Amino acid sequence: MISEKMKPYVQNNSAIRAMFEEGKKMASIYGKENVYDFSLGNPSVPAPASVKQAIFDILNEEDENMVHGYMSNAGFEDVREAIAQSLNRRFGTSFHQGNILMTVGAASGMNVILKTLLNPGDEVIAFAPYFMEYGSYVRNYDGVLVVVPPNTETFQPNLEKLKEMITPKTKAVIINTPNNPTGVVYSAETLTEIGRILEEKSAQIGHPIVLISDEPYRELAYDGVEVPFVTKFYANTVVCYSYSKSLSLPGERIGYLVIPDEMEDSENVFAAASIANRVLGSVNAPSLMQRVIKRCVDEKVNLEAYDKNRNLLYNGLKELGFSCIKPEGAFYLFVKSPLADEKEFVDICKKHRVLVVGGTSFACPGYVRIAYCVSYEQIERSLPAFKEIAAECGL
Ligand code: PLP
Repeated sequence: MISEKMKPYVQNNSAIRAMFEEGKKMASIYGKENVYDFSLGNPSVPAPASVKQAIFDILNEEDENMVHGYMSNAGFEDVREAIAQSLNRRFGTSFHQGNILMTVGAASGMNVILKTLLNPGDEVIAFAPYFMEYGSYVRNYDGVLVVVPPNTETFQPNLEKLKEMITPKTKAVIINTPNNPTGVVYSAETLTEIGRILEEKSAQIGHPIVLISDEPYRELAYDGVEVPFVTKFYANTVVCYSYSKSLSLPGERIGYLVIPDEMEDSENVFAAASIANRVLGSVNAPSLMQRVIKRCVDEKVNLEAYDKNRNLLYNGLKELGFSCIKPEGAFYLFVKSPLADEKEFVDICKKHRVLVVGGTSFACPGYVRIAYCVSYEQIERSLPAFKEIAAECGL
């Protein structure tokens, strides 16, 4: 019954989801507190109290028909203006509501912009390791995902390879900083260099290459690390933002695209993206959540808990002999598998009731991703299990 196009998606159904389901099964057998599930990027820090308050206030104070009604496909104008002004205050940009398009989270934002830009056969470049859904999103519009191999020393993007891999078919490059799965943050120097390469190559191939900056983890950076604002480095940039992690609202499905005036053909791109939002079936982003964002536009989750988790897990694993770069953002550790076969390592972890995701799922075999957006207690309780795993792997 299902379409040919859908079959590969079903076959490759997300390893992360599969691990999550496995975790639920194991919890029912061994008890929840005896299973250490680090598989999913589901926030453990609650949304700020102001979000809950905003929901009550909106329902009490705002016009019901407006709150629950249709609006323009790009979203409520006042909400988009509030976001534009917030970005301008924080980053010295000069956006207006005409640059902001409300989306159903980053997943939808990525689909909207790829539908807007891609012709069949167009190439989209991503840097390994990358969020595995990019492949599906690009294939949705008959594009081809081209993967730049990882730089496993630092997990910064491999820019020499980027230069080599751009072809006349290149339509877009996706970056994700702070990064899932490595926690790496791209510096201003890196972004300057990416901008320079894309300008030079766009001129060579005779059409602009769009830089898509996927930013669900923008607000999650530690030790005072700055996450530079990408539109400042390259004019043909589209930012894909989400409140899933920054306000801990992943199930509410709310985010936005920034399509700057500086982008070539900006007005047409914005108009086409608004239509893509509609014809992809979302029509518009959830209206109540848009109203919430207007009231909570400068809020973010309390990062202290993630930071404490990061230090406990990173230091604990390093002490046991595991090898890993210290993440500066997001809520993941990307740990080198002590065994040549990462799958064998994932299985040993599972035997000790520790659930992690193999790096193959991020186009980077030989590593595993550990999502530390869990309770501090879970990390504390899991360390003896990691000790047994280290011993079994000969560390
Ligand atoms: N991009 C990256 C890198 C992610 O890690 C995620 C979710 O984990 C998404 C996009 C999708 O985010 P959203 O929940 O906003 O659709």
